[in-house]
This record gives sequence, C-alpha cells and structure tokens, in this order.
Amino acid sequence: MSTLALPDKKTIIGRFAPSPTGPLHLGSLYTALASFLQARCQQGRWLLRIDDLDTPRNRPGATTAILSALENLGLHWDGPIAYQSQHRAAYQAILDQLDQQHWLYRCDCSRKILTGETYSGRCRTRFLSRDHPHALRVKTHTQNIEFIDSLQGAIKEQLTAKLSDFIVKRKDHIIAYQFAVVIDDHLQQVNEIVRGCDLLTSTPKQIYLQQLLGYPTPRYLHVPVLIDPQGYKLSKQTLATAVDTRNPSAVLFTLLELLKQQPPAPLRQASAAELLAWAINHWQPAALANQQTHTAP
Ligand code: GLU
Repeated sequence: MSTLALPDKKTIIGRFAPSPTGPLHLGSLYTALASFLQARCQQGRWLLRIDDLDTPRNRPGATTAILSALENLGLHWDGPIAYQSQHRAAYQAILDQLDQQHWLYRCDCSRKILTGETYSGRCRTRFLSRDHPHALRVKTHTQNIEFIDSLQGAIKEQLTAKLSDFIVKRKDHIIAYQFAVVIDDHLQQVNEIVRGCDLLTSTPKQIYLQQLLGYPTPRYLHVPVLIDPQGYKLSKQTLATAVDTRNPSAVLFTLLELLKQQPPAPLRQASAAELLAWAINHWQPAALANQQTHTAP
C-alpha cells in the first residue's frame, strides 16, 4: 500500500511587539491575546519583540512590567525575546543598501512646512549635504498599494492619498518604526501579523517597503482598537491604567468577552490555563470582522 506524504504545512509565525513606553493596559493586552490565540489555534509560533527604538519614549521598568503581565496571564512566547535596540546595525546596513540604489534622500523639512499626511517631495531634488542635520526619506511612487486584511477586508482607498515619501530614519538618528518593523518581521520570518486597527494606515507603507526589499508580505489581521466611553483610544497617552494581572482568570475572562468570544459563564471559575485552552480551541477571529473600534467598559 502506498503512503501519501502530507503536504508541507507552513508554520504560522505570529508576534506581539509592544513598545516599552509604559505597562500594558487593557487595549494592549487585548491585542496580545488576539495574536496569541491566532497563532496558537494554528499550532503556530508566537514571538515577542520589544520595540524599544524610540528611546525618548521608553519608560524605565516598562519592559519588566510587560513581561510579568504576559507571564502572569500565561501568554508564553516562543524563543528568545527580540529587542529592536539590538538590531541597529542590521537596519543601517539595509538603509545603506537602499541609499546606494538611490531610493533614499535627505530631508530637513520642519513640521511647519509639512501639512497633512502627504509629503510634497520638496527635498527630493535638493541634494542636501550629509553634514546637514537631516532625516532620510524613501522615494515612493503613485502606484496604489492594495491588500486584503483578513478582518477588515480590501484596503486601498485609505492610502493612495496618503502614501508619499516617508521617513525611514529620523533627524534624531532614530530608525523609524515603519522601517524597523518591516526588517524585523522579515528577519523573524513572521508570516501573520495581528495588531490594532490604529496601525492599518501604516500597513501600506510597510507593504511598499517589503516590495522594495523583495520580502514576502505577511497576512494581516487588524483587530479593533479599544476605546473608552468618550471615544478615545485606550493608550498610554490617555493614561489608560495598567492592568492588574494578579487575578489572571478574571482578566482573561474580560478580555475574551471584549474579543467577542463569548466564554461560557462557568469558565469564570476556571484557571488561567483552562481558560486559555478553551480560548485556543474556540477562537473565532471572524467575530471581530469589519470593526475598527470597540468600546471598553
Ligand atoms: N510597537 C508598536 C506599538 O506598540 C506595534 C508594532 C506592530 O505591531 O507593528 O504600537
């Protein structure tokens, strides 16, 4: 009897990539749990990366607080933690390569000159000297970037007007988020990204960079952003409070309700491990489809 080889199933690699600008609030844990469940329900890997490049915004103790919150909830990640601050040489090498290929140019436009989200390309032909304080922008073109978000559907119109030469290295020498995230996701072989809808407008820029660098584009699932009853996004800027994870079951139950997974009431008494096992088995990301915000109580 002949045996049929099973087709090679690609391992799903997801990740959670918080910035250490403060402890995790309900909104960030909501995204963390969604990305964890999405990876785990497909027997995938779930990586943790600390996006700590924006040093003026980093807060002492934030990374430790983030790690202990995830551990308390039983959201165990695979492999070593990646720190963007340790990848600066890799980013610079790729910037140098793009520079040699004339994809980058120096720009000294102040915020005052810039209006709205599009950049006029004013510095494209100014050829500023290297010694002059400058940011680096990548040249873009008018071709639309379109993609299908697994939760939000076809995304195209959001960008065409907004996609313009964008900054890949800031004037203060900090590598821009858009650039670092693309390099890291590629180096870590991330092929499925679950994150908040607040980053939906960044995604076309990232896809543009992936195409420029010849990287594959991961699958995206942008989950709703939690907002407060006044309509403001829960964020460190709006002083969203850190979640007390000393009672992990209660936190997980609340998060699962917010993620519209309808955990059965008797699970309120369950341990965190039991709740996560239930959630992995029952994970229905489609419950979040076509919603960009969700009001937290
Ligand atoms: N570090 C980013 C943040 O905390 C998220 C990066 C990403 O998911 O692409 O907002």
